[in-house]
Amino acid sequence: ADRVADRRLKGVDFTETTCGFCAVGCRFQLVSKDDEVLGAVPTDDPDHAPVNDFSTCVKGKFGYEFANSDDRLTTPLVRGDDGELHEATWDEALTRVVEGFESIREESGADALAAFASSKCTNEEDYLMQKFARTVLGTKNIDNCARLCHSSTVAALKQTLGFGAMSNRINEDIGEADAYLITGSNTTESHPVLSTRIKRNVHDGADLVVFDPRKVEIAEHASQYVRTKPGYDVAWINGLIRYIVANDLHDEAFIEERTRNFEEVREKVEPFTPEEVERLAGVPPEELERAAETIATADSVVFGWAMGMTQHSHGTQNVLALADLALVTGNVGKPGAGVSPFRGHNNVQGGGGDMGTLPNNLPGYRDVTDPDVLDEFEEAWGVRPPDEVGLKVPEVFTEALAGNVEGLYVMGENPALSEPDVSHAEEALAELPFLVVQDIFETETTEYADVVLPAATFSEKEGTFTNTERRVQLVGQATTPPGGARQDWRIIQDLARRMGHDWSYADPASIMDEIATVAPIYGGISHDRLREEGGLQWPCRDADDPGTPYLYDEEFNFDDGRARFVPADTGEPGELPSEEYPLTLTTGRVLYHWHTGTLTRRVEGLMDHVGEAFVEVNPATAERLGVVDGGRVRVESARGAIEVRAEVSERPGDGVVFVPMHFAAEGAVNRLTGERFDPTSGIPEYKVSSVRLTPI
Ligand code: SF4
Repeated sequence: ADRVADRRLKGVDFTETTCGFCAVGCRFQLVSKDDEVLGAVPTDDPDHAPVNDFSTCVKGKFGYEFANSDDRLTTPLVRGDDGELHEATWDEALTRVVEGFESIREESGADALAAFASSKCTNEEDYLMQKFARTVLGTKNIDNCARLCHSSTVAALKQTLGFGAMSNRINEDIGEADAYLITGSNTTESHPVLSTRIKRNVHDGADLVVFDPRKVEIAEHASQYVRTKPGYDVAWINGLIRYIVANDLHDEAFIEERTRNFEEVREKVEPFTPEEVERLAGVPPEELERAAETIATADSVVFGWAMGMTQHSHGTQNVLALADLALVTGNVGKPGAGVSPFRGHNNVQGGGGDMGTLPNNLPGYRDVTDPDVLDEFEEAWGVRPPDEVGLKVPEVFTEALAGNVEGLYVMGENPALSEPDVSHAEEALAELPFLVVQDIFETETTEYADVVLPAATFSEKEGTFTNTERRVQLVGQATTPPGGARQDWRIIQDLARRMGHDWSYADPASIMDEIATVAPIYGGISHDRLREEGGLQWPCRDADDPGTPYLYDEEFNFDDGRARFVPADTGEPGELPSEEYPLTLTTGRVLYHWHTGTLTRRVEGLMDHVGEAFVEVNPATAERLGVVDGGRVRVESARGAIEVRAEVSERPGDGVVFVPMHFAAEGAVNRLTGERFDPTSGIPEYKVSSVRLTPI
């Protein structure tokens, strides 16, 4: 009470909330004064901060200048006859949106429209966005940016285990494992607080095995680091499985009692001898054997991965192989073990999937083609949702170029910078007859918009985010949106009303109450309960359900309760080094920035650390090409070119270069990446592109 009184005296407010940057889901108090966010301090109630207690990373602690930035959008913008965006009233802007969408629907049908939800927004806002697309616009085309990060994870884990989600908890399982296999994850920089848990446990004696083409920071703490060749991950994972089975190190009782199809995998991995793995993936036999022994003999193993595994033209196969490895060793459904896709955005689990912002799933991962499911939603919503699978994000751009998608509603995303081969995305955006963008800043995408709607950031709204361990947590409002900016859920509701739908949600809590009625995995979740109990992990099916800390302890999410082994196919990356483009480019994140950088590039303290794009080059590669540390270089692919500073570093291997994904203009790495997609999930192959480097 004294602390609270002290704070009041200073005119400072403290608001309990959940971090708006990454999906670790740290809880803390936002400090604000005079409607301005000043920073963050630890929560008063550590029970409500189960992931991080008192810790945050540099972004969570200091990364808020963007919210107070002078270039926040504060009024709607509408493109005039002169081709320029002009300030408009909300009434003018929303009228233009309604006219634009309705005229396209009238002339070309509802499926000429598409909508992108956002993993940055709250569950409640994303739920409304997909409901708006399906019932107000009447289109089947709703997707979100999780398509670009972990859609292959979701596709693979649904097939093998039943839920497309992390099976375990950050602290109690990931923080307590006997051993880890981390692959394709720059954990320290992308999920900092989570990586601290791992490193703390490793320093207490747990084994850490890291397989990665780039020696990322967490590999410095590993008992074994293995450098792999980009794009050949199924080979070494199948090789591990083969070695484990051939040496009777597999968990026979688990396989017998809890799984199906083991023989198919046993047969599939047979060709992956240590020698073949070395030929394909560049992993020496002794390294493969050592890793297999560590994984197979540990009491509990966590398998952690991120986009280094998923963003490949065979991303789903990569994750299938990892799931098979976890099943072979019996490391699913018990404490200290599990499959752990480290998700990216703050709300990618909830807003990127759980809420039904997907072309094939309604809220709660319910099948859009199942008539019984559609009956239920029709009863709940009063409108029957479309019964066909819609377009995925990259398909929307292809169809826009073909003239089949004419109107697009983008909430909180920046596809003009995040799509692979952005020149192609720019062309498609330019071709679109009608584009509406709802965001907090003008971005590379708003340059193509017909209407721009100013929205609120996470510190200006209430709602929930679901973190990477399926934990639904409250978001608290610390400040009011600047000027005329509005919360996304209010904008969507206003549009629905103007288009003849009687929506009357009083607040985000009432939206969550509706979510609980249509998405059984959220059936027991309400804002009141979250306020009282802290976060709840789904499935949480009713008010008495305490939630599910780790999945599959008794049964997998299939009718017979058994997991499915699914053999994983290996294959070449979609693009191989050539004489013209002899190097392999891989992309990723740095600690101080976030995704396309629209937020963190506006924070001076973060820009002081990393203020521009760069390319990491191995010393041997640099010497061959005459590249010097700190010098400028041109990086070119068959799609385009960027000019950046060179950092000569041992992190990438010889012949591999790395460029972060956060920068625009001459540092925009997606000028180089290509449009090659995983056929199952539609995820682009960001992690393998052929390039050349020239000093300038
Ligand atoms: Fe926020 Fe992630 Fe940092 Fe935690 S680790 S403070 S959730 S950015």
